[in-house]
Parts: sequence; structure tokens; C-alpha cells
Amino acid sequence: MAARILDGKSLAAQLRTEVKRKVADLARGGLRPGLAVVLAGDDPASRVYVRNKVAACEETGIRSERHEFPGAVAEDTLLQKIAALNADPAVHGILVQLPLPRQIDAHKVLEAVSPEKDVDGFHAANLGALVAGAPGQVPCTPAGVMRLIEHAGVPLAGGRAVVIGRSTIVGKPLALLLLQKDATVTICHSKTKELGMVARQADILVAALGRANFITADMVKPGACVIDVGINRLPDGRLAGDVDFARVSQVAGWITPVPGGVGPMTIALLLENCLRAATA
Ligand code: NDP
Repeated sequence: MAARILDGKSLAAQLRTEVKRKVADLARGGLRPGLAVVLAGDDPASRVYVRNKVAACEETGIRSERHEFPGAVAEDTLLQKIAALNADPAVHGILVQLPLPRQIDAHKVLEAVSPEKDVDGFHAANLGALVAGAPGQVPCTPAGVMRLIEHAGVPLAGGRAVVIGRSTIVGKPLALLLLQKDATVTICHSKTKELGMVARQADILVAALGRANFITADMVKPGACVIDVGINRLPDGRLAGDVDFARVSQVAGWITPVPGGVGPMTIALLLENCLRAATA
């Protein structure tokens, strides 16, 4: 039987409507949430992501401002901009679009963002809060994945979750969130041995490695929930996830499409994080 589709586009639309309603409530009280986006360099994918995030803000009534810098920007220039945004009361959220140009120490720049305005949840204070199970801003993609899984009613407690990818923005925080929901979590990466065997044990399998169509049907336990975080550009220009959707959807119990799965949820959760930052 074909898998149920986890429709991120539709759930994200619902979340955005809710954010819009709350933003309108705040506006009546004289508060307009504001997001500042810092973009350095001319990576085409980053430009598309920033455009989509800014458009989503506008749609929900969140004020957005874009601060663009050439690829050769000096680190100090970015740090000064972030200091100014930290001090600006009209800016509630600051997002530094990654990747940053080679000469910039991304960690240093992300750490310069005030944790209260860190709507991406990448600051060590927020990541630390996540480890401790304390309140804080949670990275948008992992938070969006959790909302999709929970909305679909996929059982997590006691289930075996396998996350492929250990980045600080997706794999590691997602593993922590799954653990918080009592899943038994394994994190895999490029050095993992017998990855297929490990993946096949998963009740919840998350692919966040950035390799087109890497997860094949034989790596998936029948009935598993398969979450495809990957966004890969094929040589012919089409987008593909990390999962071979056509075949895996014949084996899995639930599956996210690409596009229309995790991507829209990431943006919806960014809007929620902006709202939280504005009202904290
Ligand atoms: P990174 O490149 O930072 O991390 C990739 C991870 O995958 C690493 O931990 C790496 O292992 C692991 N990996 C790479 N190749 C293999 C392999 N052959 N077998 C097992 N593990 C492997 O990527 P991100 O976490 O930033 O992003 C992952 C994917 O998700 C990308 O396609 C990205 O575009 C997409 N993405 C999508 C978002 C969305 O909103 N849908 C948001 C953010 C990212 P190691 O650590 O050993 O190198």
C-alpha cells in the first residue's frame, strides 16, 4: 500500500494563517514584529531562500528588512551590523543566511546575534537550552519536522528513530527533539558503517544528508515514517530530495514529498520563532 503523504505545504499554510492572526492582534496593541535578514555573497540558493522568507514575513504582516553584503565583506562589517540590529528595538529577530563567505568565521557571527533575537536557534545559548530541555529558540527545520510528524499522529514514544546527517542546523537538534519525545535515537553520518542495515531498523527515518535519491526502498522498514529534509539540484535543474520518493513511498507508512514537505514547514516555523521573539 502506498504511504500517506505528510503534506508540509498544507500544514505550513495553516500555521501561517495562525501567525497572521496573532500578528494582527499584536498590531492592535501597537507592536509589529520585525525580522532582519543578513545576506552576504551571491549564492543563488541563498538568494531564493531569503526571498521566500521575506515574502512569507510580508504575507503574515511581520516587518522584514534585508541587509546585503558583497562576498568579499569583512567579518568586522558583519559583526558591526549585527551589533546594530541587536540594539534596534524594532528588530525582534535576526537571521544570518548560511553559508557565509569563506573568509568569515560563521560561528563567531552566529554567536554575535543576541540569543533573544536568534530566530534560527543557532546560538550556543539556544542549542544549550535544547540539550537541557529548557525553553529557547529551536532551529526551524528540526522544529518543522517535529510538527509534521506529530500532526500526522506518528507514534514516537519507544519508537526507533534514525537521523542521517549530524549538522548543527538539522541532524543534531532533530535527534534531541526526537529524544525529548521518547524515541530511541541513532544519528548516522558519512563514517557510519552498514548504514542500510541501521536505516532499515527505523520506525522514523530522517534523511538530512544532501545526496539526491540516496535512500532507496531496500533501506526502509515497511510502514516506517520517512522524512526527507534534503534539497538537491539535479544536473537538469530539477529539485530532488534525499529519498527515492517513487519507490520508497511504496514501502513506507508515511513520507514527505520534495518539494512540499519539510521546506514550507521550515519557513512557517521561522515565522513562529519571530512571533515568539517579539512577544518574549
Ligand atoms: P551538511 O552538509 O551540513 O550535513 C550533511 C550531513 O550528512 C553530515 O553530517 C554528513 O556526514 C552526512 N552525510 C553526507 N554524506 C553522507 C553519506 N553518504 N552517508 C551518511 N551520511 C552522510 O548538510 P545540512 O544538514 O545543512 O543539510 C542537509 C540537507 O538538508 C541538504 O540537502 C540541505 O539542502 C537540506 N536542508 C533543507 C532544509 C529545508 O528546509 N528543507 C533546511 C536545511 C537544509 P559527516 O558529518 O560525516 O560529514
